[in-house]
Amino acid sequence: MTEKHPKFERTFVIIKPDGVQRSLVGEIIKRFEQVGLKLAAMKMLVPTPEQIEKHYTLDPEWRRVTGEKTIKGYLSKGLKPPSEDPLEITAKILANLKKYLASGPVVAMVLQGAHAVQIVRKLVGGTEPLTSDVGSIRGDFVLDSYQMSDPDNRAVRNLIHASGSPKEANDEISHWFSKVDLVDYKLVQDHILYDVNLDGLLE
Ligand code: ADP
Ligand code: MG
Repeated sequence: MTEKHPKFERTFVIIKPDGVQRSLVGEIIKRFEQVGLKLAAMKMLVPTPEQIEKHYTLDPEWRRVTGEKTIKGYLSKGLKPPSEDPLEITAKILANLKKYLASGPVVAMVLQGAHAVQIVRKLVGGTEPLTSDVGSIRGDFVLDSYQMSDPDNRAVRNLIHASGSPKEANDEISHWFSKVDLVDYKLVQDHILYDVNLDGLLE
């Protein structure tokens, strides 16, 4: 077999300073665990502005995509975006993200399991808490919006970062963790999640 089994997919998550300050670390990790994902690495740190800028610009498209997404968010609510230029918007967002994420300790982790990237994004919810689905982490625990954050020239506080694609996940995992920090191990529940025949359950 050349392709790795989907159960080996990994994603990268940061619980941002507001998540730590609001004592939601346990609640957030619980949601990832209860769906069947397992922790492959975890640490607490205060990130530097340089680490944060590098993190967001690992994907050369991030500046354009994030600016465009923000403009769309404004237009869909019938509001005027702060600028028509996506890159101008993202430059501001990035500067504010550096202040936001470096403001206190964060918890960085790697989660592993089938469709880890997509499943975690689903549990996390859309970027702007105002419109994140009910039941998602951002939808359930935050009330922020661009309308609130942009006039105050700050990042929208949405508790979590989660990788957007397996490629982004790989790049982010190697940015934040060394190879030796990543642990390969079996969980007892892996059997019930992934075993083809479920044999070996009965005595
Ligand atoms: P996501 O975290 O959902 O992947 P992005 O990668 O687009 O979202 O943006 C990174 C982070 O930048 C967001 O989580 C949020 O904290 C902040 N952000 C994005 N767009 C805006 C905006 N228009 N105004 C304020 N903060 C923003
Ligand atoms: Mg993103």
